[in-house]
Amino acid sequence: MVIRRRYRSRMSYNLTLPCGCTVYVACHPETRVAHTRVIERRGLGCRTPQHEVGARVYLWELLPEARPQEAVTQI
Ligand SMILES: [Zn+2]
Repeated sequence: MVIRRRYRSRMSYNLTLPCGCTVYVACHPETRVAHTRVIERRGLGCRTPQHEVGARVYLWELLPEARPQEAVTQI
């Protein structure tokens, strides 16, 4: 039971965005595909209006390098 609970807990995790916001990511227990991403806690320095607690976060917001206009400036 304990092992199973620990295993299931790995199906969801938290990420911290560059802006400081904490994102809760829930993954499907079988496919392990992240199906839900919501703002769990807003960063103090966040200037993104969409980053309200409970708001959905899209994949490209989690992966800044996926945005072409910032890929150059990051290097
Ligand atoms: Zn933010």
